[in-house]
Amino acid sequence: MKITQAICTVLCLFFTSIESHAYVGIKKFELKTTSATLNIDTDGNLKITPNEKNSPQISTSAYDLWQVTLKNTSTNMEQKFHPGKNMLIRQQGDEVQFIQNGFMNGEDLIKAKAVFSISVKNDGFCFSGNLTSNTTNWTFKSLTYPIINGIIINPKNTDIYWPHGLGEHYNNPNSFNTRSSWYPSAMGASMPWFTITSTDGGLYIGCHDTTQSAKNFNLTYEPSNNTLRESIMIPIYDDKCDIPDIFIKSYSGKWYEASKFYRSWYNKHFTIPSPPEWVKDDPGMLLCILKQQNLNVMWSYKDIDRLCDVADKLNLNTIALFGWAVGGHDHLYPNYQPDNLLGGTEVLKTAIEKAHKRGKKIIIYANGKIMDVSTDYYRYNGIETIILKENGQPDIQFYRKQKNNTPVIFAQACTGSVVWRNTMYHLGQQANYLGADGILYDQLGVLRPLLCFSPYHDHRPGEADPKYRLEMVDEISKEIKDRNPNFIIMTEATNDVMLRGIDYTHGYGVATAPSDVAFPELYRYTFPELIETQRNPNPMITRTDANFAAVFGLRHELESRYPSDVKYLVNGILPNHKDYENVVSPPNVDKMNLVSIKKAEEYVHDLIKFENENSKFFRRGKYIALDGIDIKADAGIKASGFLSDDKIGVVIWNKNMDSKSSFSVKIKGYKLVGAKEIENSNVLALSPLPPNSLRLLVYEKN
Ligand SMILES: [Zn+2]
Repeated sequence: MKITQAICTVLCLFFTSIESHAYVGIKKFELKTTSATLNIDTDGNLKITPNEKNSPQISTSAYDLWQVTLKNTSTNMEQKFHPGKNMLIRQQGDEVQFIQNGFMNGEDLIKAKAVFSISVKNDGFCFSGNLTSNTTNWTFKSLTYPIINGIIINPKNTDIYWPHGLGEHYNNPNSFNTRSSWYPSAMGASMPWFTITSTDGGLYIGCHDTTQSAKNFNLTYEPSNNTLRESIMIPIYDDKCDIPDIFIKSYSGKWYEASKFYRSWYNKHFTIPSPPEWVKDDPGMLLCILKQQNLNVMWSYKDIDRLCDVADKLNLNTIALFGWAVGGHDHLYPNYQPDNLLGGTEVLKTAIEKAHKRGKKIIIYANGKIMDVSTDYYRYNGIETIILKENGQPDIQFYRKQKNNTPVIFAQACTGSVVWRNTMYHLGQQANYLGADGILYDQLGVLRPLLCFSPYHDHRPGEADPKYRLEMVDEISKEIKDRNPNFIIMTEATNDVMLRGIDYTHGYGVATAPSDVAFPELYRYTFPELIETQRNPNPMITRTDANFAAVFGLRHELESRYPSDVKYLVNGILPNHKDYENVVSPPNVDKMNLVSIKKAEEYVHDLIKFENENSKFFRRGKYIALDGIDIKADAGIKASGFLSDDKIGVVIWNKNMDSKSSFSVKIKGYKLVGAKEIENSNVLALSPLPPNSLRLLVYEKN
């Protein structure tokens, strides 16, 4: 060790030990909100006690509160650090601080400082702080904070609301078990918060970071002592870091309070643009792959007219053309030249014009995130455009649609690359030139943020690209909408970053279709502005799936992807499993065989007609879930409220397949003024609801 280093080490250690004495003699620290008290005793036990007795409590140790990972810049060696016993804990005004001056790596002191703080902000406990490295030898790789090892719950009356996809709801912590979810992405966490509720109230944990950068949310149930363990991991890869505000807030009431708390912060920093009027009224989308990955042509450009016939039967107005370019679906991306085999450019433009005359909207597909490594594009632009992982390797995905096909290998692009953004920009221009009403950049809302270490991009090595995904669509949207205000930008899946730039979302993932834990209320209530389709990879929509979409205010969707789908849609031929033997991800043949195509189409047609006739609730109403609506019902009833001026439309669905269900509804300050059903003009408002049926009850303000 050089003399100067040695002196410095001694001084730093001296400084640390002096500061650590500040803890001695202080009995305890206390912070209060209107709904809870936070205490730290002299042993570092940190407790959050809510005023509501039957509400989740916290009992953890300040000495478990964080984990810092430092990375040696010359050797790439990594070291993890937890709070040491010499960590200074002090209260400065309304803030408790935990200060770590230096990190001991064996006998060496790493000259870096970490300050963590807890304060009261917006009536919640705000965990924040900053990290600074004063040496060029070590940099911060990541921070995990706050680590709460003891969220004490009563498992018999605990509900967990997790922001996976449009939302999940668990009423049994055993079935939740453990989760590790990357924000922002529909595959992980679509919003940076979750909540745990009990009989009287709940606990909100959320990260309020105006940069909306990548984070990993972790929650695990420990059945041995009825606790939940929580942590949030923040990638850093920098010499310094201002830790974003992370809120732990107790509240009285239901999960809506957690959602409102997050949304009130979101509103201070972000806006959600309003899409063109036609999107607000759109009933849904017919997704059609014209040519498959194996180059099997199913629909030519002239056949777009026949697709309009299919859409008419279903009462749908929007047709999205997938596999419309030379390579077919999931092949030769990002090359999307109009295909002469399908008719060529002019035929495509004419077909789109003809569809417009029939009142249809046409959306053109482009994948916003992946490139086929067999293309010249990859050969000549790959190194400038792809994500390079920490080990210097690309992120490889492969897609195989037919069993006798070689998979197509894709590398993931980084939207931090100006070259890639420019490529996507030109595809948007092309879609507008072809006369389309919008472009769908696939996967922007889906894929989890992957840290990119490419030196060729606009970001620091170690950052992920969500903010550039948004920047990319903003640039394209602004440019094209200046000339064509009705042009839209779509993507697959929503998260609360992409929501700021997307007009219309193609549904994907959890809660875009029914499941035991699907809870679309979570995202829909937080962001009622969202216009998203259900996800239904079948060429028909079952009555159950259609009703699920209606009750949660999702738009409808069905997909034509394979030759047997075309036979079904054009000739009404019901398929069997053999028809999809060569297909890797077939539609649900059992669902398709539930009823005739005519009966299936008629129900969707009539449901959409019903929604259109009551569009002030289904399309233009503000989604309010059941906030303020007191509903008592048999099992199997799902319901949602839609606010429209002085009225609330309550949509009720009996999802039971073979039994009627009874229910009662009360809304304080409102009276019942009407009841409607799809196939029934004489509705008794509160009579039992027939199996798999919908009813709309209209309430008016007193
Ligand atoms: Zn990058």
